[in-house]
Amino acid sequence: MANPPFEIKPNQSASFVVWNHTSVTPEVRAQSLGQQPRCIWFTGLSGSGKSTLANALEVALQRAGIHTMLLDGDNVRHGLCKDLGMTAEDRNENIRRVGETARLMVDAGLVVIAAFISPFREERARARELFGPGQFFEVYLQTSLAVCEARDPKGLYRMARSGKIADFTGIDSPYEVPDSPEVLLDTAAHDVDTLVMQLLSRAFPERWPS
Ligand code: ADP
Repeated sequence: MANPPFEIKPNQSASFVVWNHTSVTPEVRAQSLGQQPRCIWFTGLSGSGKSTLANALEVALQRAGIHTMLLDGDNVRHGLCKDLGMTAEDRNENIRRVGETARLMVDAGLVVIAAFISPFREERARARELFGPGQFFEVYLQTSLAVCEARDPKGLYRMARSGKIADFTGIDSPYEVPDSPEVLLDTAAHDVDTLVMQLLSRAFPERWPS
């Protein structure tokens, strides 16, 4: 019997995946929304203020008529990443999925705000690589462990210290401080409104010149 032209084994199928080129490009989508899409990526310890500032930033952008989407670390773990735990491997996969999702949304023309501890330099670098020049803004919330632990908004530090949570960033899992973030915010020194203004003028200078 003649061999079929291609023998496709299940574990080799990825090599047959091609890119389909669409007529409507990311540039066209951005133009039709009248904005320059980008990804604002918050990183910092639990309790450093990522969710609080991401939320305040999204409100400010929406008030200015900018189309946004917010991806929050706690929220994606209820769906997109509900099968993942907190080991280093699972954290990497969590950030890989979120990076790809953010990239798709940027291709749709949105300003995407991502709020994830994202403790490892390499995973943040891999997320950055998914975006075009000037589209990725790493925002490091420089809030000390002592301040985060004193805030402890979800009681997680207390649980980690008493051994009820394992692999908790800052306690028994490392946080690698960003080398050269686009924006560094000191949440112990300034209030939320001031920090949002600092962020807008750094990440959206065309709309909020300083
Ligand atoms: P994360 O998302 O990084 O875990 P959260 O935003 O959930 O952090 O919690 C940060 C806590 O710190 C909130 O209770 C917030 O009200 C408080 N907080 C106090 N000052 C600030 C500030 N300047 N910026 C952000 N959060 C602040």
